[in-house]
Amino acid sequence: MVLHMESIATKRKCFICEQQSEDGIEVLGKFLCTNCQQKLINLSPFDEGYDFYRQKMIDIWEGYMRDIKYENRI
Ligand SMILES: [Zn+2]
Repeated sequence: MVLHMESIATKRKCFICEQQSEDGIEVLGKFLCTNCQQKLINLSPFDEGYDFYRQKMIDIWEGYMRDIKYENRI
């Protein structure tokens, strides 16, 4: 097992495919890699995996909304 802490430091874990990647965007405080970003953009309801991606987005969104509500209550 080899650990390269320096290179891992700039990589983040994608919330959909759970792969470490350097390229991507942040969505609702979560990291989304370029691959998944492209898949989401090109995804249609007829595609295999649509429900999977949709559910991931719903999970993230609900988590985000929970955080917002929580902050507002303090
Ligand atoms: Zn990904």
